[in-house]
Amino acid sequence: MKIITDENCLSYRQPGHPERPERISMTLELLRKQKDLSKTWTKASFADDTAILRAHTPAHLARLSVAEDFDADTAWFPNIADRARASAGAAIEAMHIARRGESVFSLMRPPGHHATRHQAMGFCYLSNIAIAALEALATGVKRVAVYDFDVHHGNGTEAVLLNQPGAAFFSIHQYPCYPGTGGRNTGDNCFNYPVPPQTPRKEYRHILKSALDHLKDFKPEVVGVSAGFDAYARDPLAQETLEAEDYHWLGEQLRNLGLPIFSVLEGGYSDDLPELILAYLRGVT
Ligand SMILES: [Zn+2]
Repeated sequence: MKIITDENCLSYRQPGHPERPERISMTLELLRKQKDLSKTWTKASFADDTAILRAHTPAHLARLSVAEDFDADTAWFPNIADRARASAGAAIEAMHIARRGESVFSLMRPPGHHATRHQAMGFCYLSNIAIAALEALATGVKRVAVYDFDVHHGNGTEAVLLNQPGAAFFSIHQYPCYPGTGGRNTGDNCFNYPVPPQTPRKEYRHILKSALDHLKDFKPEVVGVSAGFDAYARDPLAQETLEAEDYHWLGEQLRNLGLPIFSVLEGGYSDDLPELILAYLRGVT
């Protein structure tokens, strides 16, 4: 398992905000001290303008350097343009590593799946996984799928990949919940699996599996996974029921696809996030 990370991603914080540096630093600590998951560490370079501008408008990219908050959840920070470029670059690197046949996880912040073509929102600034998916299509991949199991709808990924030839998007999320979208399928390639709040684990697993079967029918050559861990029973931002063993199970299901898979951290805000990530990595490896 290759872990892409960069401790510079710990360098911004808004006091009291759930998307905090400890999400990464505590996970690093756990991964370093446990011995049974064999891992190597790597860093990635920044995503360049060419890659970013496939997914975002030039005005949006420029806006990241304007000192003004984006919305009540999504603050501006002096270094956020670089941090967002680094996180998107890590997603791209993860995609290339997966295509070389290795298992890989991008352990970075900020997350990306709420950032649309022209808007930062929901703690996200650049649409990391969509940028990586478009880079895959630009470098020889004919069919790429994105599977998003974060508890929130990946509205940004959907906005970027909507009707993109060669791409398909599958999002499994609590509904109703932030950001309010994802109640039905969109375009000809975006498939949404809304899950009511407090859905029992067994049923939630069934929905996760249905989406995965649907993804398989798309016959992708490579699969990007928006790995958010906020459908966890004790996550403070949503009302679902999953446990660590469900994330382990989901990792195994993804591994069983037998396809190149790259996973990118999205949300997950409980103090147990490190254990959830480790359970997932043990399954997906
Ligand atoms: Zn989320």
